[in-house]
Amino acid sequence: MREIEVSRITDVIERLCMEANEHLPEDIKCAIKDCREKEDGAIACGILDNIIENFEIADAENVPICQDTGMACIFLEIGQDVHFVGGSLSEAVDEGVRRGYEKGYLRKSVVKDPVLRGNTGDNTPAMLYTEIVPGEQVKITVGPKGFGSENMSAIRMFKPSAGLQGIKDFILETVETAGPNPCPPMVVGVGIGGTFDKAALLAKKALMRPINVPNEDPFYADLEAEMLNKINCLGIGPQGFGGRTTALGLNIETMPTHIAGMPCAINISCHVTRHKTEVI
Ligand code: SF4
Repeated sequence: MREIEVSRITDVIERLCMEANEHLPEDIKCAIKDCREKEDGAIACGILDNIIENFEIADAENVPICQDTGMACIFLEIGQDVHFVGGSLSEAVDEGVRRGYEKGYLRKSVVKDPVLRGNTGDNTPAMLYTEIVPGEQVKITVGPKGFGSENMSAIRMFKPSAGLQGIKDFILETVETAGPNPCPPMVVGVGIGGTFDKAALLAKKALMRPINVPNEDPFYADLEAEMLNKINCLGIGPQGFGGRTTALGLNIETMPTHIAGMPCAINISCHVTRHKTEVI
């Protein structure tokens, strides 16, 4: 059994909140630059140039890439031989978010009540997802999620008879409906299987996988490539002004489901698809 002080979790999350908001992952930066090469329209090229200049300034000056610094989605993969000491784990996570958003001058975007509103003032509570895995390490991923794109996400409880075509149509319909709202070029996370809630979590987790790493299952890797191509044929383009680049990547995560269903969730993200991971 390995003991870990929860204050270590706080320290790592504090730092990752800032780093994730200031530095885009390399796979996203490369994809944006590749797309810029493929565009020939003046408006699309100009927008992608602005996006590239923006993330380069954020990198150089350690400032947020976007004004919407998101809700702090925190994924903890906890080794089953870890024993946390020194206080509450969930309070330690919130403290890390509180400190990171304060120290990094990141916008606090969380309200106390979904209907009555009222800013919590410190971007807490974090959206915390925990998973127990073998071993004695803890993998911490911070993925700040903006809501221009989160709002365009969708879930549907398909009957199995809808088949693969039903899922393909749903993906295209969701992206088309999203249009310019999620600040394209977007990243599309798809979760298929499980229950209503698990499908949504799979879709969110799909956004944490680098977009240059295909699904390990060749069937789903092919589906990812096919749907990315189809999305980019929609012509929505950078920021919705038309062009070849509507999505930078599309990741699919799946799990077993009930014989009577085929849940499918689509979590839309923007060109600022941020996440940062550390293992302790
Ligand atoms: S959708 Fe993304 S790029 Fe657009 S405002 Fe929100 S976080 Fe920023």
